Amino acid sequence: MEGTQPNLMENGSVKPLSKHDLIRFIRSVVISNQKQHETNPFYVLDLGAIRSLVHTWFHNLPLVQPFYAVKCNPNPVFLEEMAALGTGFDCASRAEIETVLSLGVSPDRIVFANTCKPVPHIKYAAEVGVNLTTFDSNCELEKIRKWHPKCALLIRVKVPETSGATFKFGSKFGALPGEIIPLLRASQEAKLKVIGVSFHIGSRAINFNAFEDAIEVAKTTFDAAAKLGLPKLRILNIGGGFTSGPKFTEAASAVKLALQKHFPDEPGLKLMAEPGRFFANSSFTLATSVIGKRVRDEVKEYWIDDGVSGSMNFLKYDHDEVICTPLIAGKNGRTKEMKTWNSTVFGPTCDSADIVLKGFELPELEVDDKLVFHNMGAYTSSRGNDFNGFKTSAIPTYIVNKN
Ligand code: PLP
Repeated sequence: MEGTQPNLMENGSVKPLSKHDLIRFIRSVVISNQKQHETNPFYVLDLGAIRSLVHTWFHNLPLVQPFYAVKCNPNPVFLEEMAALGTGFDCASRAEIETVLSLGVSPDRIVFANTCKPVPHIKYAAEVGVNLTTFDSNCELEKIRKWHPKCALLIRVKVPETSGATFKFGSKFGALPGEIIPLLRASQEAKLKVIGVSFHIGSRAINFNAFEDAIEVAKTTFDAAAKLGLPKLRILNIGGGFTSGPKFTEAASAVKLALQKHFPDEPGLKLMAEPGRFFANSSFTLATSVIGKRVRDEVKEYWIDDGVSGSMNFLKYDHDEVICTPLIAGKNGRTKEMKTWNSTVFGPTCDSADIVLKGFELPELEVDDKLVFHNMGAYTSSRGNDFNGFKTSAIPTYIVNKN
């Protein structure tokens, strides 16, 4: 099996900033903003964290080329760093392709990984030479035959939903087992080149035996293509679903075991993946300001300047919780010793569901104190909206650990 090694770490720290240094940096931004009477929320992007994650990826999966899923967080500095480190990109639309190409990335480092693409986007991909895409329907094959017949194809297959993922993709994406052979035949008849298979076990997966099930389906598809007399398939795209931290080693081991079992001897097989969350999540930290306060009996209630319509929109879908660190004026890092209160934290909009935290223990806060949220890079700013004029897209990002 083959993989492409990146231009790893030519310069710059391969370590994330320590929590202590990150908080120190945030305090310095807060002080400078206060001088300019600004109290907007802001992100901090740690380039050292990205380098460290790319390093971890290739340490664990040296043969799997990552194509970062731009949808997860399209911050331009983040994308630039990924490009410099040699990753590819998974783009879902013309705009995402434009963004990546504008960084000087060559089109052969892009997979147009959207199984149903608007025709103008397909025409654009043809124009700029993005020549690899996914499909799972006859209709998509027909559009590609008409508008981009030179495009190489990965058949996206539905895989068993055994990963316990927060976001499951099976009801919308992927050819069912009974659809695979007819789709491969249709691609033959249309003289289109299917060169591989792709799947996604679901985002924020927790059970990585799902890779064994998914890679088995992929192998069945490789065998079916061979039986139909298609040129030998040569790409296996294992999608996303990875999270950073100890879970990643578990996921990588499951992938390697499944590959050994189902593709033990496959010279020339290229392995790729489309991780989003793995690279983006821990690279970004969000700092918010307390903008309002109300005390109701024993409960302290606060409003902050970002919330569920903005960066914390995942609270609507993930059934997840966030945790935060308070930064209190004049209490440099000594909040741990303070008495805490049962607290509720609201987002700034008039949406009654804009509630970030409930029953969370916090020391007593005042307007202009800060709440810092770590691990805020995945599907945060990219999925927030501008409801009530609170513009998620306008939240600035400060960069640390540049080299
Ligand atoms: N690839 C495709 C086609 C996706 O739809 C997604 C997420 O929606 C991803 C990759 C990234 O997944 P993750 O962030 O779980 O790695």
